[in-house]
This record gives sequence, structure tokens and C-alpha cells, in this order.
Amino acid sequence: MKKVLLLATGGTIASTQGPDGLEPQPAPSELLHALEEFRRWYQIDYRPILNLDSSNIQAEEWQLIARAVYQELSHYDGIVITHGTDTMAYTASMLSFMLQNLDKPVVLTGSQIPITSRLSDARSNLATALAAVEQDVYGVSIAFNHKLIRGCRAVKVRTMSFDAFESVNSPERGDILASGIRLAPEGAPLLQQGGTKLCDALCNDVFLLKLIPGTNPKIFDTLLNMQYKGVVLEAFGAGGLHFIRRDLSEKIKQLVDNGVAVVVCSQCLYEPSDCSIYEVGRRMLATGIIQSCDMTTEAAVTKLMWALGQTRELAEIRRIFATNYAGEISC
Ligand code: ASP
Repeated sequence: MKKVLLLATGGTIASTQGPDGLEPQPAPSELLHALEEFRRWYQIDYRPILNLDSSNIQAEEWQLIARAVYQELSHYDGIVITHGTDTMAYTASMLSFMLQNLDKPVVLTGSQIPITSRLSDARSNLATALAAVEQDVYGVSIAFNHKLIRGCRAVKVRTMSFDAFESVNSPERGDILASGIRLAPEGAPLLQQGGTKLCDALCNDVFLLKLIPGTNPKIFDTLLNMQYKGVVLEAFGAGGLHFIRRDLSEKIKQLVDNGVAVVVCSQCLYEPSDCSIYEVGRRMLATGIIQSCDMTTEAAVTKLMWALGQTRELAEIRRIFATNYAGEISC
């Protein structure tokens, strides 16, 4: 029987209706009851470590979760983390970077409807997460709607439907069919010798800016004054920005010259960006920005926070961005 630790952090899965809307509970009886049923197949320990709607999960909580996983990893075959869905993709991405060379399954799951409701998707999502541990799907994954998604490739794409997450620019790791669990061939970086390492330093001074036609270039002066150390720019299409009338590239160069790491990704959800294709991209490339290729915005933001926790050298951050740590980038 596989030994699993369930770390609970809150989210809809553990919520009940309060006077001000859905509120998470540390140990709802329906969740404990569901775990009791799963104990026919798994040895499960339950530990609530946070009790938050995931909109409240930030850098401090990522560190707390990563440390809890790291401390317990050697005692279990895998760890399931219940978590709100709204920021689950950010947490999954960040854990993918903080838990380097992760050689056991760490599976995040949650639900769109609280486990207290008879229509809830919670039990089947928990079943998928536990099946991933049973199958030794190592690394960080999200289990949701009968699918297994690599943590650093997941994006929440739907607010209400059960099919809330997609695996972007990378195949799903597996799915559940009538015939059982079907796993895709492993495409992630191979594990290194030496076991899992905890690298939980990060920098919270990262800003995400989505360009719109006519963005006022002065916004970059404000970011510099606010002492941001990193900026992720969601540019247009394959990687463009405007330079007529409102020249954004000149301001981006000022940021880079002042030691700010500027990472560019696309506003398009699918396929890689490449700033070298168009003049409007090459102007940006000339400023010294770092390309993020086919990474999700969630992965680019968390990787930049994590990279700035390791170093402030722009050359080193560029090297980190070109390195595939957990399957987050494929070009
Ligand atoms: N607001 C909730 C959360 O992210 C949504 C959910 O769990 O589905 O905590």
C-alpha cells in the first residue's frame, strides 16, 4: 500500500458557506470521510498546514508549502496538496522550481464545488491525485477532471466548468479512462543523482504587465521608482510592442540598463513567442530583454521570482531562463 501525506491548504474543496460567502475550513468532516474511504487502497496521513482561499496564497505560503513537502518527502511515497484552484497553477509552477530534482510525486488538486456538495468534483479529483502517487508520477503535477498536468505547464482556463485546467504547450502527463490510468511517455528532464534539493529563496519584487495598444511608456518609470527587480511583459502575438508615438522599447532599455530583469512572453495562450521575427520584436530584443519561448505566463512569473531569489546578475538570470528545470520550456 502506498503511503501518502495529504497537506491541506484550503480552497473551495474545503469550503463551506459562511456569512460572507464560501470560506475554507481546516478539516471539513466530508473531506475526512472521503479520506477514510480511500484508506482501503492507500495509507493516508492528513495535515492542514494553511486554511486559505488561494487568492491569499503568496510568496510566504509557497515557502511554507515547499518546506513542508521537503521535510516529509522521505517518509512518504508521494504528497497530495489540496489547494484552491484560482492560483493553483502559480503554486504548482513555483514548487516545480523550489523542489529541484524532485524524485517523488507531489500532486496538487482541489475542486470547483466544495466536497460538502453532492455534485462536487472533489472525490474524483482526489482519486486522480492518489492514482498519480500510486503510479510514481514524479515531479509536480496538477490532478483535475480526470487529467494529470505538469505543474509548470498548467493554466486555469475556466472559472465554472469542471475542466478548469489545461496543459499548455505540452502534452498532458496522463488521464483516467474506463480502462484505468493512462500515462504519457515522460518528456521531462531526467532526474540527476543526489536526490531532491530545496531552493526556496525568491524575490517578490516582480511585476506582470500586459501591454495594450497605446500603453503609456511612463508606466516603466513608475516600475523603476517602485524598485521592481523583475518585470514580465505580456507582449503582442509572437512578441511585439509599439514604438511609434509611444516608444516602449526606449523605456524598457532604461529598465534593463538599471539592472531590472525584463522577461517577454506572449498574450497568446498557445505556441512559442519569438521576438526575432518582426521589427516590433527586434527593437525589444535589442534592449536586452530575456525571451521565455513557450512558457506559460504563470511559469514565467514564478521562474523570474525564483531566479531573482538565486541571483541578481542579469547574465545568470538569462542562463536560468534558458535552462529547462522541470519541463517548463521546450525551445
Ligand atoms: N476561490 C477558490 C480558491 O482558489 C476557488 C477554488 O478553489 O476553486 O481558493
